[in-house]
Amino acid sequence: MSAVRLRRRAFWCPALLLACLLFAACALGKAAEPVDPGQLLAHADKIKTIDHPRFVQIINDLGAKPNSLQPAQLGYLRFLEAWQVAYSGDYDLGGRLLTQVIDKSDDPVLRFRATATLINILGIGHRYDDAFARLAQLLDQLPTVNDATARFQGLGEAAQVLIAAGQYDQAASYAEQMIADYPKGETTCKGMFFKLHALFKSGRLQSLSPDFAEGVNTCVGAGEVLVANTLRADIAAFDIQQGASREAIALLQTNYADVRRDQYPSLMSQFDALMAQAYWETGDSDHARKSAISAINMSIKSEYTEPLSIAYDVLYRIAKEEGNTRAALDYHEQFMAADKGHLNDITARTLAYQMVRQQVEDKKIQLFDLSRRNQILQLQQELDREAVKTSRTYIVALLLLLASIGFLLYRLRRSQLRFMHLARRDGLTGICNRQHFVEEATHALRYSAKSSRSACLILIDLDHFKTVNDTHGHAVGDHVLKRTVAVCQRYLRSRDVFGRLGGEEFGILFPECGAEQALARAEEIRQAIAEVPLDRDAGHVMVTASLGVASAERSGYNLHRLMVDADDALYRAKREGRNRVATASSAASGRAPGDLEISYAGELG
Ligand code: GH3
Ligand code: MG
Ligand code: MG
Repeated sequence: MSAVRLRRRAFWCPALLLACLLFAACALGKAAEPVDPGQLLAHADKIKTIDHPRFVQIINDLGAKPNSLQPAQLGYLRFLEAWQVAYSGDYDLGGRLLTQVIDKSDDPVLRFRATATLINILGIGHRYDDAFARLAQLLDQLPTVNDATARFQGLGEAAQVLIAAGQYDQAASYAEQMIADYPKGETTCKGMFFKLHALFKSGRLQSLSPDFAEGVNTCVGAGEVLVANTLRADIAAFDIQQGASREAIALLQTNYADVRRDQYPSLMSQFDALMAQAYWETGDSDHARKSAISAINMSIKSEYTEPLSIAYDVLYRIAKEEGNTRAALDYHEQFMAADKGHLNDITARTLAYQMVRQQVEDKKIQLFDLSRRNQILQLQQELDREAVKTSRTYIVALLLLLASIGFLLYRLRRSQLRFMHLARRDGLTGICNRQHFVEEATHALRYSAKSSRSACLILIDLDHFKTVNDTHGHAVGDHVLKRTVAVCQRYLRSRDVFGRLGGEEFGILFPECGAEQALARAEEIRQAIAEVPLDRDAGHVMVTASLGVASAERSGYNLHRLMVDADDALYRAKREGRNRVATASSAASGRAPGDLEISYAGELG
């Protein structure tokens, strides 16, 4: 059994969800094909995923004689053609064709459907700015769309994109609408999926409600196997977080063959990565390795995804456990690259969402400004007509204008700063998030290396934190995390870099600090964490932490190497009984374990 759990908490699998809707099937029986072009188009639309070859044939036949179609029918055909191009994987051309439909069609339902499909494609291509701009249009159109199928698709698209942008509450409210009102041929499956997926992604899920099993059953019943299995992946990920790795393995194994049969790479990679993680947690390194390698093979090429980063993290830990230093370093490097890549993607989504929100805000501001200007202009004309008895009103009006412009600029600047901040900070504690920590620490280390000054990295991991959550609840757990941050901050200098690296794991880079001094400072922090109780109505909550220290003198100035060594030391501190500081003599680079020094308090946790 591993002493230190993997860092990751949740999965994100955008391409799969995008595909779920793109491939949205309609439950249709086989009926005689209509001959009227209008009806034939509607028929083609319905069978596009069920009988795809026939769909292609119909639109090709109709496309060969466009003159036989009325203008509205031609618009419908153009939409289906664009859909087909996107389905076949040519997202650039598909996107351009859909944009033409949106720009040219008079049919609001068609424009709405084209917008929804376009958002889907833009998301797949990581073009989040454009995706969120289109989402704003889609949400504007939503109240006017009465076509049940189009509405359903639009709501699903909105829910999915909002989950990607971390807007879980809003996503859940659209999912609720999908559950409350679904068109013929659909069920509550997709609505339930988005609702539960948003809940899981939000990190607020405390225990698995029966809704999850019901969601899976509904989707299985509706023949939506892919959606059912995506939901099962969430369930398995949650089980792993809760320490129920064996349950997770059972669930994943039971449905593994189904997932393989669907041949959907991102879900396969997700299942494999979860298996790797679960096997590692149960101490089964052999299966963990096999699954991790499979997750890497299945992952989308040239894209950094969460399954990829989990798989490398597992391989890193296995190699480390086996004492294979070279492989451990190698895997850690790949883990860091994948982790950074996928975190960058999340940041890009969040930023893009905020950017679009800001643009909408800007538009409101411009309108506000315009109406102010108009008011002033009217005032001026009135005054002119009355031959200006006094200029006082003028001055008031001008001041009003100046004040409103000043206010607008202030709001603009404030929202810019807000989303810069958002992208870099951890939402709960307000300190650097993992990604920003890596950037800042790398920068500081580069400076230290150039000026030949020492630097040290410490990793802090709270002990038995899961028990705190289990005993006192998640809210108290959150308090403990914030409290820990506040305690650490008391011991930091302004140039130290402090970040939350994962759930209850923190990192501090001390520039201009030698190994001895870092050890002493880490020890101070350890004591402070152990000594400060958290006052709660329920009584005092005490926590301890284990710390690992690595110094640039021994490990060099490469952050990832420092992290490997500090992680190694932390791992040992855990194994030696927790509530202590360990400094590894670059154990990951092959020195004997005897080189490890451990310092701990008189009373151990
Ligand atoms: P160890 O001493 O080996 O580190 O044991 P542990 O229980 O601290 O480690 P483990 O990794 O098993 O558990 C970490 C827990 O942290 C599991 C997860 O539910 C919890 N956690 C992660 N992020 C958050 C958060 O933001 N808030 C709260 N309250 N808990 C969190
Ligand atoms: Mg812990
Ligand atoms: Mg941990």
